[in-house]
Amino acid sequence: MPAQIIDGKALAARLRAELAPRIAALRTRGVQPGLAVILVGDDPASAVYVRNKVKACEDTGIRSFFEHLPAGIGEAELLARVRRLNQDPAVHGILVQMPLPRPLDGQKVVEAIAFDKDVDGLHATNAGLTLMGRPHFRSCTPYGVMKMLESIGVNPAGKHAVVIGRSNMVGKPMAMLLLAAHATVTICHSATPDLGALLRQADIVVAAAGRRGLVTAEMIKPGAVVIDVGTNKTPEGKLAGDVDFAGVSRVAGWISPVPGGVGPMTITMLLVNTVEAAERAAT
Ligand code: NAP
Repeated sequence: MPAQIIDGKALAARLRAELAPRIAALRTRGVQPGLAVILVGDDPASAVYVRNKVKACEDTGIRSFFEHLPAGIGEAELLARVRRLNQDPAVHGILVQMPLPRPLDGQKVVEAIAFDKDVDGLHATNAGLTLMGRPHFRSCTPYGVMKMLESIGVNPAGKHAVVIGRSNMVGKPMAMLLLAAHATVTICHSATPDLGALLRQADIVVAAAGRRGLVTAEMIKPGAVVIDVGTNKTPEGKLAGDVDFAGVSRVAGWISPVPGGVGPMTITMLLVNTVEAAERAAT
């Protein structure tokens, strides 16, 4: 039987609809959740991501504060901008689109964001709290993946989860959230000698390597849940994940497509975190 599809687009729409009453409740108290989005430079892919985030805010009733800064902005001025937003009570969440143009230091800029406005979950304090199993803001993509598992009734407890990738944004927080949910977690990376041998033991696979076609059918245990975080461009300019979707679909129990899987969930969890930040600030 072919794998069932985890429809990230439909789940994202459901979760966004669930935000409406929370945003309405905040409004009755005179609060509108606000997200500041900073884009530095003119990278076209970053510009698209930022546009999508700003639009998602507008569609959901979250106020967006968009700042487009020149690539040549100095570090001191960028940090000063972030600190001003930290002080602004109308701004509940701050996101600086990564990667930043050189020589700007992305992590230094993230550390300048007040940790209770770091709705991307990338500040060292938030990463540390996630590591300790008591996250304040979960990093958006791994948070979205956990919601996808929940939506199909898969409880990670007691399962073997294999995460491909160890970045601070995806792989590491993903592993920590799965661990907190009582999975046994294996983290793979570019120096892992036999990826297939590990994947074949996995009940849950999260692929976040950014390598098109890395995960193939013969690496997957029959019935496993396969979530594809990867976003790669095909030679034809189309979006493709890290998983050979056609092949793996014949073996897995569940699979998330690219596009229409993790992508819409990532933006949605940013909105969820922003509403949560506004609720915390309003109490
Ligand atoms: P990243 O910082 O480049 O990290 C990639 C990770 O994959 C690294 O840890 C790397 O290992 C590992 N890796 C690379 N090749 C591998 C291989 N052949 N076997 C095993 N591991 C391998 O990327 P990222 O920011 O985590 O993002 C990962 C992917 O997810 C990208 O395609 C990105 O575009 C996508 N993404 C999608 C969303 C979404 O919303 N859909 C959100 C975020 C990211 P080393 O550490 O050893 O180099």
